Amino acid sequence: MVSVHRELRRELWRVFFLGLAGAMIGRIMGSALTGLSVVFLFYVLIQINKLRRLHRWLRRRAGGPIPELGGMWDEVIREVHRVDRDSERHKERITGLFDRLQAAASAMPDAMVVLSQRDLIEWANPPAERLLGLHAQRDIGARIVHLVRDPSLTAYLEAGDYHQPLVLKGSVEPYVVSVQIIPFGASQKLIIGRDITHLIRLEDMRSHFVADASHELRTPLTVLRGFVETFQDTLGKEDEELSANLALMQEQVERMRRLVDDLLALSRLETTPARVHEEVVDMRALVDGLQGVAQALSGDRGHRIEVGVQGEDLMGNPEELGSAFTNLVHNAIRHTPAGGLVRVTWATDVTGGHFAVQDTGEGIAPRHIPFLTERFYRVDSGRSRATGGTGLGLSIVNEVLVRHDGRLAIESVLGQGSTFTCHFPLSRLVVRVPSSPPSVTTV
Ligand code: ADP
Repeated sequence: MVSVHRELRRELWRVFFLGLAGAMIGRIMGSALTGLSVVFLFYVLIQINKLRRLHRWLRRRAGGPIPELGGMWDEVIREVHRVDRDSERHKERITGLFDRLQAAASAMPDAMVVLSQRDLIEWANPPAERLLGLHAQRDIGARIVHLVRDPSLTAYLEAGDYHQPLVLKGSVEPYVVSVQIIPFGASQKLIIGRDITHLIRLEDMRSHFVADASHELRTPLTVLRGFVETFQDTLGKEDEELSANLALMQEQVERMRRLVDDLLALSRLETTPARVHEEVVDMRALVDGLQGVAQALSGDRGHRIEVGVQGEDLMGNPEELGSAFTNLVHNAIRHTPAGGLVRVTWATDVTGGHFAVQDTGEGIAPRHIPFLTERFYRVDSGRSRATGGTGLGLSIVNEVLVRHDGRLAIESVLGQGSTFTCHFPLSRLVVRVPSSPPSVTTV
């Protein structure tokens, strides 16, 4: 910068002396103004010529020789040259970084695809060919949904909620791919596809193993139960101590049977596809049936049981819904002292359908509530076992609700009681024909 100023000053002096010389020569020849004009005319022509050479060099400066223009012009050329070199180095650095990034992305086992604003493929790494069936070069510029033809991907991209990954099964055989979308920049997206074929296979093996093992345990358990009952009826009558031990055995066999049944129910929910055996569930009949179940479970403990039904019916699998609701009623009776109140209701409103089981029982401390639907989670395991619990009841409820687009809400106050509510979306409601007035029965 300093040398540019110096050259500028020199140039001004040069112009001054040239003008002076031109004026003096002009004076000698008769007119100082004419001399001055001629000198300046030459000066301007020379500068225009230098400007033209500079322009030509700038246009094809890649590899061209640097012109020697002298004075201030050389400084300008040097400056342009320096900026050029800097930007070249910068470009090389960025290209190198991009190449390294591309090499790292290509070496990754996960599929990676960059989508433009309109979900057009901008870039894809080689694993995307294997896991998503794309061609890393040929498919650039194509819409991803035209190549990965899975309606769930189209719906997932349109919905725009990418918190939960999408599992693509059967789009590119034999792979099962977990797809995660990360939006970035101006409406661009990065798709990461992870091969979870092995995990799904292991998960399948696990649930089939549990189902098979539970199934295999059923027969020996039935035999055992039969023998214990026979011994109780014959030997137990003669020996009091033996009778007590046999009663204990019977209780444990019964517990194992319940456990096996619950495990089987859970693995059936995991392994059978949802929405297959769905029909309109008559909620009035279902709730009335639950009233009978609650009464039978209460026995001589004299719980007050109330039921109420109002609104549309529910679309779903009657066996699954029946087993989930029975579990809730079962829990309410087991965890409510004799004479307590258990209320079973079904109601619909603008948000959907709500099946609730409310009790005035022991209640649950808030710290346990988030974990209640986990398998084998019990607030008090000793007490749960003593009352015939398996620790799987609420897991079954949760699984059934997930299959019916529903969710479980638990409200509880320790020492006062609990309310377990199954919420279903509006899409699950079916208008009842003919409609009947709400009913509340107290027993
Ligand atoms: P369990 O077979 O042990 O009842 P669940 O999965 O059905 O297993 O329930 C998990 C735990 O939640 C139970 O151990 C119990 O402590 C608690 N629980 C469930 N329902 C109620 C209820 N209505 N009142 C109080 N506690 C409950």
